[in-house]
Amino acid sequence: MEICRDTEALNIMIKEAYQQAKFGKVADYIPALSWANPETLSLAIYEGKSMIATAGDTSETFTLQSISKVLTLAMALMDIGEDGVFSRVGMEPTGDPFNSIIKLETHTPSKPLNPMINAGALAVTDMIKGNTVEEKLGRLLAFIHELTGNSAITYNNEVATSEFETADLNRSLAYFLKQHRVVSSDIECLLELYTKQCAVEVSCEDLAKIAFVIGNEGRSVETDRTIIPLHISRIMKTFMTTCGMYNASGEFAIKVGIPSKSGVSGGIMAAVPHGPGIGIFGPALDEKGNSIAGMKLLESLAHRYDLSIF
Ligand code: GLU
Repeated sequence: MEICRDTEALNIMIKEAYQQAKFGKVADYIPALSWANPETLSLAIYEGKSMIATAGDTSETFTLQSISKVLTLAMALMDIGEDGVFSRVGMEPTGDPFNSIIKLETHTPSKPLNPMINAGALAVTDMIKGNTVEEKLGRLLAFIHELTGNSAITYNNEVATSEFETADLNRSLAYFLKQHRVVSSDIECLLELYTKQCAVEVSCEDLAKIAFVIGNEGRSVETDRTIIPLHISRIMKTFMTTCGMYNASGEFAIKVGIPSKSGVSGGIMAAVPHGPGIGIFGPALDEKGNSIAGMKLLESLAHRYDLSIF
């Protein structure tokens, strides 16, 4: 691919994106996330056998946060099927912030509008099969190990604990959902699993590899195995496109047009259908929770290499 021979252009794009970081702010509502260095920016682009472009310190790790929602959705779909999942969570974008409670109250029946907002993600996490939190988390980690080929990946206990101790808003969403029979688990166990899934620690190279599998019909080129069934990889990309960048997903679709999911740690995972997987880490966020430098970088990459799906 062209990108690998275009080092000079890539350096310019990185510099321009990096300039944006000063307009952002690291997330601090989860105390442990506030320790991130806002001036970090790293990028990895993977094309099935190797990284074709990297920038910054690509070995630096960060937590998945909301990016994990795409992976738990895939697991729930594999575990209980489309009918089971979509009887408890909807398919529509909300236009509201990711942690909003408002549509749960104003919609009847009280079912979260999609799996990418916190309420929907909590409902999806509740669907994952397993007898204990450890078993469910173990299954998620095994799935991530297979997607990345990196069996060292685990969760960051400090970040998980920091979120668990301060997750009052997510707790209230979960209790609301239990009252309305959308979730059935013990809420503290559900919160433990959810905060641990959000605290799974990866590098942007790991993200690029996961994105590649999602972008390429669920197949790993490295192992020549189908890890995610085709129809599920399509559902993942669709939600990434319609709801993956919080309530900036519409603008992002116009400006970038690559199915992507971001997290409040500053990670963005972008899956170009039948193309490269892209992982970015830049913890300075805009007011909606997206990496400000990461968005700029993806916009430049999409323009230069014509990566929009539209
Ligand atoms: N763990 C975070 C939360 O639930 C994830 C949010 C995000 O990355 O959007 O608030």
